[in-house]
Amino acid sequence: MKLRLSDTLKRQKVDFVPKNPQRVTMYVCGPTVYNYAHIGNARPVVVFDVLFRLLRHLYGEEAVIYARNITDVDDKINQKAMAEGVDINVITSKFADIYNADMRALNALEPTIQPRVTQNMNAIVAQIEALIRNGHAYAAEGHVLFDVESYKAYGALSNRSLDDMIAGARVEVAPYKKNPQDFVLWKPSKPGEPKWPSPWGEGRPGWHIECSAMIEANLGLPIDIHGGGHDLIFPHHENEIAQGVCAQHGHSHQEESYARYWMHNGFLTMDAEKMSKSLGNVLLVHDLIKEFPGEVIRLALLSAHYRAPLNWTRELLEQSRKELDYLYGVLLRHKAIETWVPSERQACNEREGALLGALLDDLNTPSAKAKLFDLANNLEHLSNPNVERTEDAAEVAPTAASLVKHEFLLLAGVLGILQQDPEAWFKGGADDDLSAKVEALLEARKTARAEKNWAEADRIRNELTALNVEVMDGPAGATWKLKA
Ligand SMILES: [Zn+2]
Repeated sequence: MKLRLSDTLKRQKVDFVPKNPQRVTMYVCGPTVYNYAHIGNARPVVVFDVLFRLLRHLYGEEAVIYARNITDVDDKINQKAMAEGVDINVITSKFADIYNADMRALNALEPTIQPRVTQNMNAIVAQIEALIRNGHAYAAEGHVLFDVESYKAYGALSNRSLDDMIAGARVEVAPYKKNPQDFVLWKPSKPGEPKWPSPWGEGRPGWHIECSAMIEANLGLPIDIHGGGHDLIFPHHENEIAQGVCAQHGHSHQEESYARYWMHNGFLTMDAEKMSKSLGNVLLVHDLIKEFPGEVIRLALLSAHYRAPLNWTRELLEQSRKELDYLYGVLLRHKAIETWVPSERQACNEREGALLGALLDDLNTPSAKAKLFDLANNLEHLSNPNVERTEDAAEVAPTAASLVKHEFLLLAGVLGILQQDPEAWFKGGADDDLSAKVEALLEARKTARAEKNWAEADRIRNELTALNVEVMDGPAGATWKLKA
């Protein structure tokens, strides 16, 4: 099975070949933790979670090291801490916890590591020292700046020339800069702000050096995949490459000595006015998960190809909910069918290559979703309970159906959906008290029907309707769900 990815730096789709298949490394820029995550910030999390799941399937769970950092040093964090009169840790630990819980609700697996800036200060200072030693950075007035003229490939990722950048630069330039495009690696802290010791005086790092230093310290160079949102290409990732390449001893000026594949997801777009009318202020993941199950939001985020813009609407969310209701409904109807479990030797066969083909081709999630619907329809067809089976057919049909069910769940698993019990899905949002009450009513209704007491059965159904419960009668008895 061959994985192909669109590489931003190479500007084409290329075969993915990890440097070491026993240790595949991926880094995605994480949040600056001072407020709630916007739905646009959840798109890279979900997109790269699908890639993480796919890599784990291809190379083994233990072989993939995924790092998503927490930026816990930043001007905005300082401002918020000062406004609330608390230490920055109070702000950052609160919002890091909320962020992780919100992303978990979207079925995003926990990354292998979550490096934090405050815990990597030595690595950051060491990388800045290496840049100065290698002639790519200079200290001036308590600042340390990266000298962009010293790195000829500067601009390669974002496809900009240094001359164009200088021509477009604003007039006001800090006097200690040699070149207007030189960017900060270290700067002095203002009075009252958190500060860390360094050879250039007490201060704090710039944003870009945080990522490249945490990558070198936690993953080692070069990493296989570096990902993030499209808006990070310039200047953040451009600067990361410059630092990561130039800090290496005896560096070859090869961009690939920092990260071997660069991936970026497209924007999430929305009609702000329309959204505020239809969704209120529900543009924060934290609020959205109160209104929609996390899986619905996740499927909506995967409904467009990751490189394309995604238009975020309430209709998209409603549509995604309907799709999951249908797919979980298929699983519920065929709950009794045992899922085929392949032996290790049987896994990763040709059939699986076809099953995962859409995802292997640059994470084509819309096409993978279509495949999931095909498999669901297949399952319905193969195990139609209304078809009377001969003794022979009874042996053949479940085997074919159990294979299809296995493939369905495998593909859904890589997409990170449809992994919960279908009954739990339909009962989502009901607390234990309500569930117990509904189960008791269904039992009473069953008794009433058995006794042909239709008036009582109707009365119970009305009571269920009043509880906002929809009863689904099926061959295996009645199940229920809360109406949306
Ligand atoms: Zn970053």
